[in-house]
Amino acid sequence: MASRDVVLLSIDSGRDGLPSNALRLAAMGRRLADQRGGQLRWLVLGDLPTQLATLAGSYGVTAVDHADDDSLGGWAGDAQVNAAASYLGDRQGALLIAAQTFDSRCIVPRIAARLGCGVVMNVVDLDSDDDGLSLTAAAYGGDTRSGYRFEGDATAVVALGDNVVDAGPAGSQGEAPLETVSLDCGEPERVSVVERAVTEGPRLEDAEVIVAGGRGLQDAANLGLVEELATALGGVVGASRPIVDDGWIDRSQQVGLTGSITRPRLYIAAGISGASQHMVGCTSAKTLVAINIDPDAAVFRQCRYGLVGDCLELLPAITRAIKES
Ligand SMILES: Cc1cc2nc3c(=O)[nH]c(=O)nc-3n(C[C@H](O)[C@H](O)[C@H](O)COP(=O)(O)OP(=O)(O)OC[C@H]3O[C@@H](n4cnc5c(N)ncnc54)[C@H](O)[C@@H]3O)c2cc1C
Repeated sequence: MASRDVVLLSIDSGRDGLPSNALRLAAMGRRLADQRGGQLRWLVLGDLPTQLATLAGSYGVTAVDHADDDSLGGWAGDAQVNAAASYLGDRQGALLIAAQTFDSRCIVPRIAARLGCGVVMNVVDLDSDDDGLSLTAAAYGGDTRSGYRFEGDATAVVALGDNVVDAGPAGSQGEAPLETVSLDCGEPERVSVVERAVTEGPRLEDAEVIVAGGRGLQDAANLGLVEELATALGGVVGASRPIVDDGWIDRSQQVGLTGSITRPRLYIAAGISGASQHMVGCTSAKTLVAINIDPDAAVFRQCRYGLVGDCLELLPAITRAIKES
């Protein structure tokens, strides 16, 4: 009989001792496992995030299955694909849900290809019924939504977009049991990491306040105005892609489709036009403020507060006002 299980897949561990998007993954997994009447399991490849068993327990996860093969340490795309495919090979019909991150984008479609099953990326919502699965996914950089349907009880693989479903409430059921699993990780890696990117400070994805600058800043030196306001607000600096491409700021600070998808309380976009590829990374902000010299800039159609004016004058004025208040 086909498996009705839901398997959450994690391959990373953040500073908070949890994998990326763990709360939302757990909440979505819980809902789907209840709909399908199957077990909810959490497959961890590589290092075990320290807080995971507690979180998993609070969402009623049946077991955290931990594969700790030496080949799964660090960047291990080939081994992760092999291990996940070997795990799911014994669970035909299961639904695999991974958080969509830079790394998982490289392995999730390959896992599906290995299993010969369907895959949907950028998923924002999904539901299971007796006849299959219905999914909604973001498309065209978040501009639109597309619907997908898996019929029957075939194995399905999906990647849940960043910050797109609200985490439901957790219960308190103690820690989920930990089971060590031995999986076939296959041949040695074909890809090796020559230099690991080093980033400092809070991640954009975790930031409560972000002040982001774009090409309207006109010169790399003016990025200091964005940094000063971010510091005054206790926030983090974000950036549009052109100023990252021009080397004004590190790529880890880029917001948008090919950067980070953020969900802060406050997002201030200074000298940013409002292209959809940028806005997909900040429209989940509780309050979006835009500063742009062009009253017709697209960003004004999406913000709550719009300031028409020169960001080189307005940024320091706002910073001064905050410091004086
Ligand atoms: C596949 C793909 C992926 C992409 N991914 C991303 C991504 O992840 N993130 C991202 O940001 N972009 C991304 N882009 C690029 C995106 O399409 C836009 O080109 C980019 O977001 C524009 O950046 P910008 O708003 O800083 O620059 P511009 O479009 O040049 O806009 C500058 C704005 O500053 C305003 N301005 C000028 N002077 C001042 C001033 N003195 N004061 C105030 N305002 C002023 C102008 O009116 C203008 O609106 C992607 C594009 C593609 C094709």
